[in-house]
Amino acid sequence: MTGDVFHPEQLSRCISCGFCLPACPTYAMTGDEASSPRGRITLMRALQDGTLPPDDPTLAEQSSFCLGCRACEPVCPAGVEYGSLLEQWRVHQWRGRRRPLLARALMLVAEQRWLLRLLGLVRRAA
Ligand code: SF4
Ligand code: SF4
Repeated sequence: MTGDVFHPEQLSRCISCGFCLPACPTYAMTGDEASSPRGRITLMRALQDGTLPPDDPTLAEQSSFCLGCRACEPVCPAGVEYGSLLEQWRVHQWRGRRRPLLARALMLVAEQRWLLRLLGLVRRAA
């Protein structure tokens, strides 16, 4: 059970009406429900409730195939904050174990504010 990937209130807002489908470029290109905002929200829910494991290939494919253009947001009657959900999804993907070593090192540095400040001081002194 994955449980805490998404803010539950944000994830529950979608009423699956499909108004967002015509606005989505990846759905227009493929005609595939999984490549639509509604389809991706269904995948997010499956990840959240453990129906799909975090390493399911469709999850990885769809989280990266989404352009993040947020054209689906203004047309949504339920006020789904898709951009925020996508961010939470990608953060979860990046927390997985398959990140390149360099990316992991950079993210570790970015999480340590004191280290960034120290690097800034060293840079200024140089
Ligand atoms: S328009 Fe909004 S509520 Fe309707 S399916 Fe799309 S995201 Fe869900
Ligand atoms: S952010 Fe853009 S590409 Fe992604 S689901 Fe929304 S409309 Fe489609």
